[in-house]
Parts: sequence; C-alpha cells; structure tokens
Amino acid sequence: MNVATALQGDPGTRLERRLLLEAATHQNHAWLLSRPEYRLSPAEAATYHQLLTRRAAGEPIAYLLGRHQFYGLELAVTPAVLIPRPETEGLVAWALEQLTPDNLLPVLDLGTGSGAIAIALHVQRPKLSITAVDVSAPALALARANAARWQATLMGPPIVFVQSHWFENLGTQRFGLILANPPYVAEGDPHLKEGDLRFEPRSALCAGPKGLDALQSIIEQAPRHLHPGGALLLEHGYDQGAACRALFEAAGFKKISTRPDLAGTDRLTGGSLYPLPPEQD
Ligand code: GLN
Repeated sequence: MNVATALQGDPGTRLERRLLLEAATHQNHAWLLSRPEYRLSPAEAATYHQLLTRRAAGEPIAYLLGRHQFYGLELAVTPAVLIPRPETEGLVAWALEQLTPDNLLPVLDLGTGSGAIAIALHVQRPKLSITAVDVSAPALALARANAARWQATLMGPPIVFVQSHWFENLGTQRFGLILANPPYVAEGDPHLKEGDLRFEPRSALCAGPKGLDALQSIIEQAPRHLHPGGALLLEHGYDQGAACRALFEAAGFKKISTRPDLAGTDRLTGGSLYPLPPEQD
C-alpha cells in the first residue's frame, strides 16, 4: 500500500486518515503530500490499520494521536484526562480579562487534567503564579509533562502541581482567582454513551445524579481559599446556569454572572467574594 491508496476513501474522514497516517509513518503532512507513491513498510501499514480500526470503533482521534490543541497550544492527552474542549477556552479568556498584566492575582486551577487551563494562562501571562491540582496521579504526571514543555520557553514562576481532591491538600492557601472545569455531566446522561465521552474518564465527566455535586462542593469551599475581592469562575452544563448562580449566591458571592459558549448556551458562571473596589483611572 502506498500513501495515495492509504488516503483513498470517504472525503468526510480524509483528514482523520491523513492524521493517522502521519502517526503511523512518523512523517508530517508535507512529507506525505510530496510522496504519494511512498510504499508503507509492513510495520507502518499494520500500525495504520490498527489506528483506523480503533477509530472506527469510536476511540477519540485525540487519544489515538496522543495530542490535542487548546488555546493555540499542542498538549499531550491520554485516556487519563478529558480531551480539552473549545468551551473551556472561554474560561481562559474570561480569566485573562481579569488577569491584566498589572493585576496578576495568584491563580488556582482545580481538576487540571492535561493542564490545559493552567498552561494556557501561563503562556499568556508568564509572570502569573499558578497552582494546579488534580486528584488523579496519571493526570498530574501528564499535566507536569505538558507544562515542562511550554515552561521551558518562558521566564516566570513554574506552575505548582499538587495532588488533591479539590481543596483538600491546599491547607489554608488563598488565591485571587479560582478556575475549574469540573465534572458536571449527570450520571445516566445519554450523551455518555455517545462519541468521545464513551472513552473519557468518568471521574472527569460525571458528578452525581444532576451533575452538580462537584460544582456545589467547589462553590461552597472556594470562599475559604479566596482573598477578599477574589473571584471564582466555573464551567458547567448548558442547563446548570441558574443552579450555579443560586449556589454562588448561597456561598456569599457577589457580581454573579453567566456567560454562553460559542453555541450560545450557558457555559460559564463566575462571581466575586466581595464587591471589587471601584476601578481606578
Ligand atoms: N463539556 C463536556 C461535555 O459535555 C463535559 C466536560 C465536563 O464535565 N467538565 O462533553
């Protein structure tokens, strides 16, 4: 089999075939494009077929390739972590609005997974002090490796990684901004049987019968880990905006607001612990 025949087939899945062929041959797009007659070695052909078979069985392309783009950065991903979503880029964008270069509050990223949020912030604001926690040791190892790759090029404090179930191992530490994309899918949600979700860690997706358990526990505990004026920004499900706002209010937050994702559905809710001081000119 040569490159041209390996890529033949349904135009709708051609991009995926090309990416899997790149992985199987350890070559890039330009190399493949310029060598349509290149004959795959038996080992390359076998790897390519295995990857195609696994993809046909539904395995996410990001896990097969072992990488995914988030906020313009390439991150390694494994089945130990959620595949970073574009919705979560909205959380980073919201955080960056608050973390102006002259207002670099210490940040906490809860449930960092691949490290996506923490690393994106680090790249955008290298001088930020960022702590990232995850309860899963394999997730934390991956996040550390991802961070090492990007940190090498930047001047600034390295991201501090802590193995912790939410705030549990953070003692009395306080932060200026807490961010999380926690699990928020309801157990029993039919979407769990579809697409990439079938292969992602349940612990990163599901949180109780309504999907609110993790959101609730983070919102309730956050005030003890925020400086006065500090803020909490969370990603949540499309139908959880009202429930989140009520939880923020019950925990004493002010300036509570919900923002939509690019699809126009509620996705992010945030609030400040106390009213922020008036903006100065
Ligand atoms: N956004 C993901 C989904 O519904 C869920 C991610 C999460 O639970 N944090 O596909």
